Amino acid sequence: MQIASLFHPGRPVLSFEIFPPKGDLSLPRAQEVLQRLSPLSPDFVSVTCSAGGGGNSERTLDIAAEAQRSFGLTALAHQTCAGFTRDQVAQNIARLRASGVQNVLALRGDAANAGAPLAYVHASELILTLHDAGLCVGAACYPEGHIACDTLTGDLLHMKEKEDAGASFFISQLFFENDIFFRFLDSARAAGLRAPICAGVMPILSKSQISRMIFLCGASLPAAVVRLLNRYEADEASLRSAGIDMAAEQVLGLLSAGVDGVHLYTMNHPDIAERELAYLKGRGYVRA
Ligand code: FAD
Repeated sequence: MQIASLFHPGRPVLSFEIFPPKGDLSLPRAQEVLQRLSPLSPDFVSVTCSAGGGGNSERTLDIAAEAQRSFGLTALAHQTCAGFTRDQVAQNIARLRASGVQNVLALRGDAANAGAPLAYVHASELILTLHDAGLCVGAACYPEGHIACDTLTGDLLHMKEKEDAGASFFISQLFFENDIFFRFLDSARAAGLRAPICAGVMPILSKSQISRMIFLCGASLPAAVVRLLNRYEADEASLRSAGIDMAAEQVLGLLSAGVDGVHLYTMNHPDIAERELAYLKGRGYVRA
């Protein structure tokens, strides 16, 4: 199933993101996660790719293939420019074809070390290659602008280049205030972007997780989040619980506003997805 065909007006696409476990953990751990995500019927599950050479880039494709083969899920395999040569990208395209995974999220990635290969300088070049290979290609977008881009307008131009290169849908970086995303949608449409744009939502699980993410991606932290972090500073379990509820409220607001899709950064915690969906159900939301 090509993800581009899943988008229909009035029926937001719901997806979850998992990442390949690091170190010695491997497919069995991912299978456990997929086993619990599958009954929640996501429209697709995306599997991240380590641009930093974390030793798990092999597993991205294995896990994506496993999600489809054993769990009947539609998989989206992430592919970065960083950490790969062009030959390796070509090999991955062949592996995707062989395993029946038709969808790729094309990213530049951030190389962890200066000597790492960089198959292409910008994601748009990778998108062109993957699109020419007949794959359904998605790309990243940034409601507050990419951290390395000086202006949102400049970033939108690069987003448009990605669409022109063949990206048929976008998934956004995390943000905490829906109004930021709604303003971004208006700007993207005004800049001529037509592809569906999924809102990326990351529940707050701990103070260290959020500090790390904010530092990496530059998303702004609203007062409500700061208050939450302060209130539960000494109580991680309560912070996690309140963080998941806060994300669920955010998702509810996005769905009520009729967004194209919501992409939940569930990481490798299936309970996040379970609780989010239970919360939505409890608030009377029924998936079309
Ligand atoms: P690009 O689109 O290439 O943009 C990078 C920067 O270059 C931006 O500032 C852009 O404005 C600028 N730019 C683009 N084109 C041009 C041009 N022609 N001239 C000048 N400047 C240009 N990282 C991983 O390592 N693995 C993952 O699995 C992963 N998954 C992600 C999933 C999502 C949904 C998101 C939002 C991000 C993900 N990332 C992942 C992080 C991503 O790799 C970083 O944000 C990276 O810094 C940028 O990737 P990009 O694909 O947006 O790059």
